[in-house]
Amino acid sequence: MQYQSTRGAAPRLSFAEILLEGLAPDGGLYLPASYPQWTPVQLRRMQSMDYADLAFEVLLPFVEPMPAEVLRALLRQTYTAQAFGSDAIIRLQRLDDRIGLLGVSQGPTLAFKDMAMQLLGRLFEHALAAGDAELNILGATSGDTGSAAEYAMRGRRGIRVFMLSPFGRMSPFQTAQMYSLDEPNIHNIAVQDVFDTCQDMVKAVSADLAFKRRWRIGTINSINWARVAAQVVYYFAGYLRSVRDVGEPLDVTVPSGNFGNILAAHLARGMGLPLRRLVLATNENDVLDEFLRSGVYRPRATAQTHHTSSPSMDISKASNFERYVFDMLGRDAARTRALFEDELAQRGFFDLSADPAFARMREGMVSGSSDHATRLRTIRETWQGSGVIIDPHTADGVAVARRHLEPGVPMLVVETALPAKFEATIQEAIGRSPERPRAAHDIERKPQRFVVMKPDVEALKTYIAEHC
Ligand SMILES: *Cc1c(COP(=O)(O)O)cnc(C)c1O
Repeated sequence: MQYQSTRGAAPRLSFAEILLEGLAPDGGLYLPASYPQWTPVQLRRMQSMDYADLAFEVLLPFVEPMPAEVLRALLRQTYTAQAFGSDAIIRLQRLDDRIGLLGVSQGPTLAFKDMAMQLLGRLFEHALAAGDAELNILGATSGDTGSAAEYAMRGRRGIRVFMLSPFGRMSPFQTAQMYSLDEPNIHNIAVQDVFDTCQDMVKAVSADLAFKRRWRIGTINSINWARVAAQVVYYFAGYLRSVRDVGEPLDVTVPSGNFGNILAAHLARGMGLPLRRLVLATNENDVLDEFLRSGVYRPRATAQTHHTSSPSMDISKASNFERYVFDMLGRDAARTRALFEDELAQRGFFDLSADPAFARMREGMVSGSSDHATRLRTIRETWQGSGVIIDPHTADGVAVARRHLEPGVPMLVVETALPAKFEATIQEAIGRSPERPRAAHDIERKPQRFVVMKPDVEALKTYIAEHC
């Protein structure tokens, strides 16, 4: 498979060449040159496969010419009952006779990001070993991404992680999850400032190209193609295990932030999976809901981003959205470039409301937003109605899903985290704490390992250089 940039001015590359890359050199994002197509007969054959075998079928066309047996081995090592809590890897639960939950948060950090990140850790290690190379991953986190990355990269040969987090501003559980890791290749750096400052420090270091090259600095943000590809698999698994026969309709709701997860659903559908409608749910940060209602995409300034009780969806712009727009514009790179480079830079928004592409988008994707009160009410009602405790992000999904139910079409809501990660909000909603997976029982009591740092880019560079 060859990969092309959404802005059309970068060379086509192989999977191995884009694996460790972020943006394409022309500022665009990589997408496969074409999507493999699956027929109902082939999909039926997949219905009896276990998760790793299904992932092998779906991912092989994307990674070729990587040898099939290498991919199969990496997938078998990744998707184990030990890492994901059961042989099924994903978990399907019913909330009522119309809505089901697609549980993809049974991994080590209790959020769906593990599903892709755990595979990424092995793919990176494999790629680096082949070239006898090293990689220093530098990132900033407000919670979920950083811990998923650390748990995926811990102990991996040739890889170090330098993860910046806002000192004293994450939940006690998230803090414990990250800081209790005791691995020599994981460096937790607690910055005495807010998350945005952490992110600015990462950007400043990455902008120093000489430093970046000298210390082989890389990132693993949500635009990494392999992360998106790995997420395509759980839509296949979710659909094939939910329906009796391939071809039955199914709607899917995805609590969204950077548009990575719902992009994977869009791709799965484009590959022949009979998902009917995709429902995009946002929290108070409703950039994407606004777009799907009006055709106007208007990213917010960081200062206008609300801090909400579904914090992993607190985004000001949706970094994977460009891939979807490119696809829906019939893969017109010149148009995509004009929208994301010229119009966004000059006017701060673009307007597709009059474009036929927008009508096509709305046929396949609808949306809604949620807020704190809705979230609490949805957690409470779901608990009372089904006995299932859902996390605040999933609650945004369930709330929006209810507004888009249609007769005769079952709905699956993606459970993007387990409630144990967000105890305070669950307490507020139902007056009790969610159950914790056994491995997380005493996590706050484990010793924590981190360094505290002032928001000082030079100090960060010195720290990295001294620990490589
Ligand atoms: C990352 C995250 C999201 C948002 O997913 P995107 O792929 O960025 O749209 C939603 N919920 C939780 C719990 C997350 O960690």
